[in-house]
Amino acid sequence: MYTHSKETQSNLTPTAALDFLKLGNERFVNNLKANRNLLQQVNETSNGQFPFATILSCIDSRTSAELIFDQGLGDIFSIRIAGNILNEDILGSMEFATKMAGTKVLIILGHTNCGAITGACNHVEMGNLTTLLHKIQPAILNEKTTKENRDGSNADFVKNVTEINVHLTIERVRKESPIIAELEQQEKIKIIGALYDVETGKVKFYE
Ligand SMILES: [Zn+2]
Repeated sequence: MYTHSKETQSNLTPTAALDFLKLGNERFVNNLKANRNLLQQVNETSNGQFPFATILSCIDSRTSAELIFDQGLGDIFSIRIAGNILNEDILGSMEFATKMAGTKVLIILGHTNCGAITGACNHVEMGNLTTLLHKIQPAILNEKTTKENRDGSNADFVKNVTEINVHLTIERVRKESPIIAELEQQEKIKIIGALYDVETGKVKFYE
């Protein structure tokens, strides 16, 4: 498995970049990890990086983007925060990763059984976590199908909120980052939502 160079990165279309992630996740769930010499990749990336994807995912210990998409050094920008929420600093990181560093696909990745989403559904308040979980409230307010048991004990409700959180985050990226919105309009990047299933290891892309 090769390390991306300026040439391979610039020749890559957003669709091909997305395919890299799909194939990587397929390898992951089939336990067919690509053969990489990570130490050699340290060498190959020492003078620069040409990653093809930017992924916003949760800090959850089961959802490491490099592992679940079977990627190596220099392949992806990995932004991780509880509940894969968005703020200005994360948007700034995304703008760097897309506009400056040239990644072709931006993935907003939620996951099943997310503690942060469940906590938000239970209106947990604790220290600085309160502010973070508050950022998930719009997804809870947008969940209109569940009439009863609208809390973390209701698995269907939590899953709906998780998916809505992904979609709302994409809408916010487009609205709050004119730089990224322009890249998408020019078809230089794709912005795609996805859900990682902690029981199967599979990623479902919302295309
Ligand atoms: Zn999580």
